[in-house]
Amino acid sequence: MAEINRAVKGTNDILPDNSHNWQFVEGKMLETANNYGFNEIRVPVFEHTEVFLRSVGDTTDVVQKEMYTFDDKGGRSITLRPELTAGVIRSAIEKGLVNNALPVKVCYIGGCYRYEKPQAGRLREFHQFGVECIGAASPNADAEVISLARQVLENIGIKKISLEINSIGCPLCRKNYHKALKEYFEGKKAELCGTCLDRLDRNPMRILDCKSPICSEIASKAPVVLDYLCDDCRDHFEKVKKNLDAMDIAYTVNPHIVRGLDYYTRTVFEFVSGDIGAQSTVCGGGRYDGLIGQMGGPSMASLGFAMGIERLMMVLESQKVELPEAKKTELYIAPLGDTAVIKASALCNELRREGYKVETDICSRGLKAQMKYANKIGAKFTLVLGDSEVESGKAKLKNMASGEEREIELSELVEELGEEIRKIIFESIAEIF
Ligand code: ATP
Ligand code: MG
Repeated sequence: MAEINRAVKGTNDILPDNSHNWQFVEGKMLETANNYGFNEIRVPVFEHTEVFLRSVGDTTDVVQKEMYTFDDKGGRSITLRPELTAGVIRSAIEKGLVNNALPVKVCYIGGCYRYEKPQAGRLREFHQFGVECIGAASPNADAEVISLARQVLENIGIKKISLEINSIGCPLCRKNYHKALKEYFEGKKAELCGTCLDRLDRNPMRILDCKSPICSEIASKAPVVLDYLCDDCRDHFEKVKKNLDAMDIAYTVNPHIVRGLDYYTRTVFEFVSGDIGAQSTVCGGGRYDGLIGQMGGPSMASLGFAMGIERLMMVLESQKVELPEAKKTELYIAPLGDTAVIKASALCNELRREGYKVETDICSRGLKAQMKYANKIGAKFTLVLGDSEVESGKAKLKNMASGEEREIELSELVEELGEEIRKIIFESIAEIF
């Protein structure tokens, strides 16, 4: 197939028969975040490359292998965002959000770009929903952010998902831990992959995140960071757990979670699903107490998470979660003849202005073809409009489910249709009780 008819590898189209599911999921995300006091922020799809080098970290897979970086026509190095935290923090500093009342609580939804090997749950364009809570050091902030992630998953209808948490400490604990890791991995140098040999010098914790089976096997027996926490970090982690317990949020401590990005400190967490294969992490997050300072802002403790929406959709499908149906066309008006076509347009316009979902023929088709179309789109009612109906001002409103027909005055169509729809809603409620 010619390139012009083919999407770029690793990208997906969200088609019209599926987009209502995305609207529902994204709506729930924003609504839930809003209830927790997180308001939406929208930042550009691209930033100066430096924004990501500084934040994500130059020893990570994302920066080393996955970024879409190019020079623009003005000779600036630009990168398509591989994630949104960096841009959001850049904006919060540049636009002065961090100088206002703290904490700054924001949420976002947007496309992300990573040059990865496309496979199930791993795309080159994917979408994240996430939150950032800037300027909150207390363990309650960790618990609030984790409980928000869980509430989002619950409100969307996810039936089962597990939460794993860990603490990776602060730069103080990191020093001793790095030393222990180096000692351990030095002894396994012969078996490590080339990238991990480089990581051993620059950032040995990254080895724990290596996807190669041999490195992961070696990493699984490496010293765990929990054993190297300083008193403050240990106390912080204990309080996060206590707070989660008090909220009845089940979790397991997984000392092997380190997260793929460099900026994390203290609490890190993941929501993992057993239903979608190898790419099982639906949501990842944690604290990044050093990031704001590192990016040129005031030093302030912060945290957040990001959820992969495509992976979440896979979980919903695999768990057969029933999402609300797309709104059906309430009325299809089938006009026959030139006068009726004009009248149908005018009626449609009036009904649409009142908020009804109404369609009519725009392909000059005959009655049979129009009724077939009305059936196909699942119209609840149809109204056939010929010359005689236009002349008499009366037409038959047909309930497509029951086949029932009723003559109505066209001048009262808005009220009549409203009444019929209310009747349907009432009947369906009556059926439930
Ligand atoms: P992984 O270990 O799966 O590569 P990551 O550590 O790179 O994940 P993050 O950068 O923390 O992921 O991104 C948060 C979430 O975004 C992930 O948990 C996942 O749900 C989603 N995500 C990340 N990369 C991709 C991708 N290439 N395709 C689809 N979703 C992704
Ligand atoms: Mg990754």
